[in-house]
Amino acid sequence: MPVYEYWCDSCCRIVSSYRPGFSAPPPPCPRCDNSELKRIFSTFSVQKTHRDVYEDILSDRQLTDGMMRNDPRALAEWNRRMNSGDKSPPEYEEITDRMGRGEWPVAQIEQKKKESFGQGATKSESR
Ligand SMILES: [Zn+2]
Repeated sequence: MPVYEYWCDSCCRIVSSYRPGFSAPPPPCPRCDNSELKRIFSTFSVQKTHRDVYEDILSDRQLTDGMMRNDPRALAEWNRRMNSGDKSPPEYEEITDRMGRGEWPVAQIEQKKKESFGQGATKSESR
C-alpha cells in the first residue's frame, strides 16, 4: 500500500499513513484525533513516470533557467525530481548531495544520464 502524507492543522504536523488508495479518505490525526487532515501532494506519494516529471520540469522556468546556466543546484533539483517515486540508488544520492553543495561531478552525471535515458531514448545530450 502506498504511503500518503497529510497535514494536521491543529497540531501543525505531518501525518504519514498507509492508505489503500489515492481516493481513500484521510485518517484521523493519531495525536489529536482531528479528522480533517489535508492531503499533502508530496513527491513521495505521487508516482509519476519519468516523462511526466520531465515535462513538469520543463514547465518550471526557474529550474530550466538554472539548468541552462549549468547551475549545479538546479541539476540537483532536477535529479531529485527525476527520482521522485523511485527509490534512488545510493550513488545518485551522492551526486545530488554534492551538487547541492555546488560541486559539479560531471563524469558521474553523464554516466547516470546514459543509464537512465540510454535505452532507446532520444538523443538530447549532444551540444
Ligand atoms: Zn493533530
